[in-house]
Amino acid sequence: MLTPTPSPHDTDPTAPLDTAGLGPSTAAVHAGEARHKPGHSITDPIFAASTYTFADTQSIVDFIEEEHPREEYGRYGNPGERVVERKLAALDGGEMAVLFASGMGALVGLLMAHLNAGEEIVFFDECYHRSREFCRKHLTRFGVGFREVPTCDYAAMEAAITPRTKFIVSESPTNPHLSVVDIERFADIGRRKGVLTLIDATLCTPYNLRPLEAGVDFVLHSATKYLGGHNDLLAGVVVGSKDKLEPVRHLRGIMGGVNSPHNAYLLERGLKTFALRMERHNANGLAVARFLERHPRVERVLYPGLESHPFHAVAARTMRGYGGLVTFLLKDADWRETARVVDAVRIPRIGPSLGGVESLIEQPMVMSYWNYSPAERTAFRIPDSMIRLACGIEDPADLVADLAQALG
Ligand SMILES: *Cc1c(COP(=O)(O)O)cnc(C)c1O
Repeated sequence: MLTPTPSPHDTDPTAPLDTAGLGPSTAAVHAGEARHKPGHSITDPIFAASTYTFADTQSIVDFIEEEHPREEYGRYGNPGERVVERKLAALDGGEMAVLFASGMGALVGLLMAHLNAGEEIVFFDECYHRSREFCRKHLTRFGVGFREVPTCDYAAMEAAITPRTKFIVSESPTNPHLSVVDIERFADIGRRKGVLTLIDATLCTPYNLRPLEAGVDFVLHSATKYLGGHNDLLAGVVVGSKDKLEPVRHLRGIMGGVNSPHNAYLLERGLKTFALRMERHNANGLAVARFLERHPRVERVLYPGLESHPFHAVAARTMRGYGGLVTFLLKDADWRETARVVDAVRIPRIGPSLGGVESLIEQPMVMSYWNYSPAERTAFRIPDSMIRLACGIEDPADLVADLAQALG
């Protein structure tokens, strides 16, 4: 007779499925959720509560003495948020996840919890501009030093590290240039120099890249993008080890950047189809990039899945897919002619952001760099002829046909 494999349900019928070793679609659907829920519901309830009550005084004492973990007050978290945190930790293969009200909330919370006056932080210079702005303009007011080095210049990164350096930070791939960081090399610098490492993995997601498995200390996502996936919510998350994230969770309870129970539920629902959506984002990105690369009006396509991309080799070695973001330059086009192409597409909507089911298109020179001088735009490598297309999950043939008519 076969002996059934012991399951956590043998002892606790409500325990979430252990998704270690299972695929990303299974984890996206099941990880973190109790198997049996209130009201026998298959979905998690939304507890619209700002506070939680105690049966009697002894229950308060038991809670404070940590005999009964439970909710206390909404700023310290809510049941729905905890489910999403467990799901996100499982997707990234991390011990713990801390959810914030936005990606920037997550970055600020993480850095504030770990940095002290007199310490320093070093960034690769293509990281999200608001993340660098927070460090350059605000952390420096509290005596934290800030440096930037050219993206993927590992020697410059090592040279910038001093005995006061606490953190090194990168994004991968970067936006809009889509430079791909060799995360194993990045993690190795952190280990050898004894500094903490952070990867903003918003663009690759846990589906395409596994920074924690490469030895990176923290992975951060703007869950507003692919994780939420429907352009209908803002959220952010940091994933890593419990000991390094407990102080972050504690500070979040003081800073107050928590998600409402309703928002946490939207994110949980969006995550159900996360892996399925990523397959289509990856396929659409590659189809569109290959089409654009052959088009006579296109000067250059930046997409890590193309053999012509300067970081294709490292991307192919470390990533499962290359995501939905495609950046391309038009041949001999000024900003008005470029804008005409953006305005001529019928399927992608014109707007900032990425990672949702709807494709979004924009001209970085107009959307993000309008108030910069031509010299500054050259320094940031943002030509007037650059277009950024964030592919959604529409049919690839329709996106390609639409681009063909817009360029025609
Ligand atoms: C959008 C984004 C952020 C900021 O996230 P919000 O949820 O908008 O606060 C940070 N990093 C990257 C790479 C992003 O794309």
